[in-house]
Order: sequence, then C-alpha cells, then structure tokens
Amino acid sequence: MKSELEIKQEMCEIGRRVYNRGMVAANDGNFSVKLSDDEFLCTPTGVSKGFMTPEFICKVNAKGEVLEANEGFRPSSEVKMHMRIYEKRPDVKAVVHAHPMYATSFAIAGKPLMDPIMPEAVISLGGVPLAKYGTPGTMEVPDSIEGFLDDYDAVLLENHGALTYSDSLLNAYYKMESVEFYARLMYQAQMLGGAKIIPPEKVEELYETRRRMNVVGRHPAVK
Ligand SMILES: [Zn+2]
Repeated sequence: MKSELEIKQEMCEIGRRVYNRGMVAANDGNFSVKLSDDEFLCTPTGVSKGFMTPEFICKVNAKGEVLEANEGFRPSSEVKMHMRIYEKRPDVKAVVHAHPMYATSFAIAGKPLMDPIMPEAVISLGGVPLAKYGTPGTMEVPDSIEGFLDDYDAVLLENHGALTYSDSLLNAYYKMESVEFYARLMYQAQMLGGAKIIPPEKVEELYETRRRMNVVGRHPAVK
C-alpha cells in the first residue's frame, strides 16, 4: 500500500499532467483521493495544480471539514462535489475535476457526449451526460451530478467543465483524458460534416465486450 506521502506526490504529478496538457488554466481544477471512510486528501484552492509539492495537499473528513492543512492552504470549495461522489459510490477512490478545452466547450454549448462514435469511448465511458448548471462551491453542484452517479464514471458540468472518478487517481485521470479525446473527436468530426454513429446492434456488441471484461466502475450497459 502507498504511504500518505507517496499519494501526495502522485497528486502533484497528476497536477502537472493536467496543467501541462492544458486541461486547466491558472489555478483551476481540483482532485482528491480517499484514504479511509473519513479521511480524504484534496488539492488546495488558489494554487496552480501544475506547481504543487506534497505540503500543499490538505486533508478533510467526509463532511469536507479540514483535518490537516499547512499554513496558507485550504481545501477547494468544490470538495463538496467530491464528497457526494464518495458518499454515493463506495467503489470510488479518487475524483478529478478539470476544464479540458473540448469537453468544456461541449458543457458550455449544453451538449452531452452520448453518441457512440468510437469503440473505446463506448466501452470505457458509455457516454458522458451533462449535469445541470450549479453555482460552484454551493450544494447545487453535488445535487446536479447525483442522478448520474449510478450509471456513469464521467459527467460534464454545464457551463463549467468535466468530472471523472475511479478506483485510483491514475484511472480517474485517464478517464479525464478519454473524455477530452472523445469530445475533441466529436468536434473535429463536426468540421468534416458530422460524426457517423455506430449502429445500435454494433453498440450492443461493444456493451457485451464491456460486460465480459468485468471493467471496474459503472456504465449504462452494466448495472
Ligand atoms: Zn471547475
């Protein structure tokens, strides 16, 4: 098992990746990792996730209250959104929130990513629904995502960004990459006259593949 310091170091590394890939601007984005039922590490507010060192990372309880934070650092106000996911999804061990360019463009246009256009996205995500806009930092955001948590591991936040969660920080981050790749393909295909959709019977075959693979997480085709 990883030590707390190793997890903090991993959070800094993922922060650099998210920042360097342009998935956030300036101090945007936040992520968290579950240590136990009442202990979670989370990124601080007001700092670039691309330049973090382990002492930046804060610790909160399941209510989002601060357990540990070095001077000058406090948890993101979006930690409420993370806590709702951990509450409803005991299988989830990490949450990533970012503003990747293409996925966020779809969120701003009010368009969910639900069309089956490529096998990998159908198998891994099954779609990315759009949660109704909520004011950041309020309970409107956790309330808006709750209805999707049973069936999806990725959600677009209307007029805001994207949210992914999984059984590890790396997998939650990979999901964010997959969401952004899917959004970018949809956008570029639109430039070429529109995406061709995979026919329903072929989508069902991909769902069957997903069921056979016993992939962790939730998916509309697997309850
Ligand atoms: Zn945000």
